[in-house]
Amino acid sequence: MTRAITVFTDLDDTLFQTQAKARALADGTGNSGADALTEAAYDRDGAPLSFHTPAQLALLDLLHGCEVIPVTGRNRTALDRVVSPVFRACRITSHGAVLYGPDGEVLPSWRGPLAAGAEAFGPAMQELSAAVQDLIERARLAARVRVIEDAGVPVYVSIKGDEAALDRAEQLVLEQGAERWRLHRNGRNLAALPPFADKRAAVAHLMAIKRAQDPTRTFLGLGDSVSDLGFMMLCDFALVPSGTQIHQECWS
Ligand SMILES: [Mg+2]
Repeated sequence: MTRAITVFTDLDDTLFQTQAKARALADGTGNSGADALTEAAYDRDGAPLSFHTPAQLALLDLLHGCEVIPVTGRNRTALDRVVSPVFRACRITSHGAVLYGPDGEVLPSWRGPLAAGAEAFGPAMQELSAAVQDLIERARLAARVRVIEDAGVPVYVSIKGDEAALDRAEQLVLEQGAERWRLHRNGRNLAALPPFADKRAAVAHLMAIKRAQDPTRTFLGLGDSVSDLGFMMLCDFALVPSGTQIHQECWS
């Protein structure tokens, strides 16, 4: 008997990345050059923005036949710009704030918690975004801030910028309420996450449903950021690309 496997996977910097990063990864492997990169996701204008390396394509081949569920910081609109891999089952978006069912609608059991979370933290997200915007203008930081929406509600505050700008923004977020926000920071991205945007909680919810349906189901977790570790630790196995934030923080 073949046992069913569900793969919970982060996307950006795990299964694909920007062209410059993809090329850097492919260089030196004997698989470099423009031909070695495969388009995985597009930007708002329809231009290719993210690419698989040959190694990432090989990994996707290995996962063929598994149920693959994205667990991503992307909101639904940005996830819909991903063309590879193709997701047919559930989807977890916006750092765990939203859990979509296979029909593309928010999972019925997730609608109540999502509505309650967005109502409780929506005003605070707007206030935090305004405070960060004020800081960006006063200190002339190379950054931009916005409240990300998903499924029609506010889900988290996204700040993109250089390292110095993110250092200042991070300090401000902590001053505004260190107990209120969890921070996800990697590269040029900083996200201030309300409690209901939690990858681990969303994966735990879906895992419980799947275990009830099939107690023998096996779970595999993939991710690159320290903020992915929470959901990866719930899985039977965890897989981390080399050279990523987890690799650097935990293994070196
Ligand atoms: Mg990632």
